[in-house]
Amino acid sequence: MGFATDAIHAGQEPDPSTGAITVPIYQTSTYVQDALGEHKGYEYGRTQNPTRAALEKNIAVLEKGFAGFAFASGMAAITSVLLLLKAGDHVIVTDNVYGGTYRLFMRIFSGLGLEFTFTDTSGLENVRRAMKPNTRMLFLETPTNPLLTLTDLRHTATFCNDMNLLMVVDNTFMSPYFQKPLNLGADIVLHSSTKYLNGHSDGVGGVAVVNTQDLAQKLGFIQNSAGAILAPFESWLVLRGIKTLALRMEKHNDNAMKIAEYLLRVKKVRKVFYPGLPDHPQHELAKKQCTGFGGMISFDVGSLDRAKTLVENVKIFALAESLGGVESLIGHPVTMTHASIPKEDRLKMGLTDNIVRLSVGVEDVEDLIGDLSYALDRI
Ligand SMILES: *Cc1c(COP(=O)(O)O)cnc(C)c1O
Repeated sequence: MGFATDAIHAGQEPDPSTGAITVPIYQTSTYVQDALGEHKGYEYGRTQNPTRAALEKNIAVLEKGFAGFAFASGMAAITSVLLLLKAGDHVIVTDNVYGGTYRLFMRIFSGLGLEFTFTDTSGLENVRRAMKPNTRMLFLETPTNPLLTLTDLRHTATFCNDMNLLMVVDNTFMSPYFQKPLNLGADIVLHSSTKYLNGHSDGVGGVAVVNTQDLAQKLGFIQNSAGAILAPFESWLVLRGIKTLALRMEKHNDNAMKIAEYLLRVKKVRKVFYPGLPDHPQHELAKKQCTGFGGMISFDVGSLDRAKTLVENVKIFALAESLGGVESLIGHPVTMTHASIPKEDRLKMGLTDNIVRLSVGVEDVEDLIGDLSYALDRI
């Protein structure tokens, strides 16, 4: 089946008892058993829930994986995946990774005996140099936030396979509509479903999809044992969001492309970061491993003062953290999403005070460009 068909139907049979076309919200903590040891496959709400199971089946089909798991947040999904490791293991991580991931790895898992090396994974030689005898996992984000640097997934997967490393990809920015890391050789793909999968800025959640039965058993055991599950209502919201994922991603992509081209023409804008632009250093790679470029754009306006004037003068773009919703958002990474990253580390990866990030929504693009144009004129 095509992606849009799967998005609407996979894991979502009409309800057997009523015929309800949408999966009901099974708001229950336990299930009545017919006799000792006789049940319908559902025993306790943390372990199994039909609404959550529908979402898990759906996302596994969309990511072309073996099994999916839904968690209380993107961070809960990442935590659960890291619990596949044991004390003494070493993980190589994309240096420009989501700030919350950096904090989790450095402030929590480092204290529990896991070791981390952050490096620019866009160059495989950097990954090779970071290897240690105890390296067990490569944790990637591509494209990165907010500078939109790509890592070649197929090339890196070959390396991980040779070295026996688990390759984990945070696919939040692209969504399975534009990028399917498991097809390119990754072992685990995960998302903050808070972003594009839900898409309506009305729920926090996370998912992980694995490519083998062995990983499915291990991650399923962790999900049930550690218990960071997604609630039935939240699962239902993500299921509903995914039904329009294909439509939304097309529009995010079209709008972002037009806005990136507009920004290129604005003299006050020094540089535009968007993988869809031919001058993006990895435009060819983006065309090869993704089927679209997404809705995230960053650009350099020359100074912190100018960035401040811009974000305070837009009217449609909302000044807020997060991304991937139908509403357009604007943010200043250095003072907002990336405030916890030490200054030298930020500057090393080129993240200056001058950079503004857009999560381009699905509004009329003329209105969005008009809004940016008004605010840029105030600079
Ligand atoms: C938001 C985000 C996360 C964390 O997800 P939460 O749902 O906020 O816990 C992880 N990775 C990326 C790329 C994100 O954008």
